[in-house]
Amino acid sequence: MSGSVDLLANLTSVRERIAAACVAAGRRPEEVRLLPVSKTHGVDQILAVHAAGERTFGENRVQEAEAKAEDLADTDIRWAVIGHLQTNKAKNLARFAHEFHALDSLRVAKELDKRLQNEGRSLDVLIQVNSSAEPQKFGLPPEEVEGFAEQLGPFSSLKVTGLMTLAVFSRDPAEVEPCFVRMTELQRRLLDNDRAAGSYQELSMGMSGDFELAIAHGATCVRVGEAIFGDRLDPNAYWDSRAVRE
Ligand SMILES: *Cc1c(COP(=O)(O)O)cnc(C)c1O
Repeated sequence: MSGSVDLLANLTSVRERIAAACVAAGRRPEEVRLLPVSKTHGVDQILAVHAAGERTFGENRVQEAEAKAEDLADTDIRWAVIGHLQTNKAKNLARFAHEFHALDSLRVAKELDKRLQNEGRSLDVLIQVNSSAEPQKFGLPPEEVEGFAEQLGPFSSLKVTGLMTLAVFSRDPAEVEPCFVRMTELQRRLLDNDRAAGSYQELSMGMSGDFELAIAHGATCVRVGEAIFGDRLDPNAYWDSRAVRE
């Protein structure tokens, strides 16, 4: 398959672009972590990227992530769930995930904490912010985030590390940039807020189309799918490939 060759070239190119964006922003490259987003893609692609030095992978659906975690249980791969979580899937996530980037309700916080306690595990979590005020997007409105963060203290299995957002999906930086600016301002307020549970060093923002701009605005984690793995496949592609293997 020619796919794996492209994967490595893509990965190298994304790493170089991240490094260049750091230099341009006067930041150290170690300040920005690449999170490859492997949703819809198969185990072989993930293993190729893993062999090239990546260890944590992002997935937006819990069940797909959990199945991949089972498929790849004999590796040291770690999983970051980056999509909305329904309360009834919290028990699945608590079993295998190392990071959750889309916390946006106390109900989910409470359920996750309970399930993590049962498993004897803890989880790094980021609060998802709807920085673009688009009604179809998940995440808390920026003005509700501080009050929310102040209520997370009792959930001792959740290690709050920062904030996550999806900016407006647009090719025009003038439309995308205000989302990132809002996030940096919000991060500063949380760092100054002694009542907010956790630490707020992490800013998970920037995807294939906008990660350089996100880095210019302080992103510490960029979630990159298509620029590494190529076009997103059909939502069922992974399940179909798994059925063929079994
Ligand atoms: C799919 C996805 C990404 C990666 O998007 P690309 O455009 O493929 O880089 C980032 N964040 C979330 C929450 C996603 O679901």
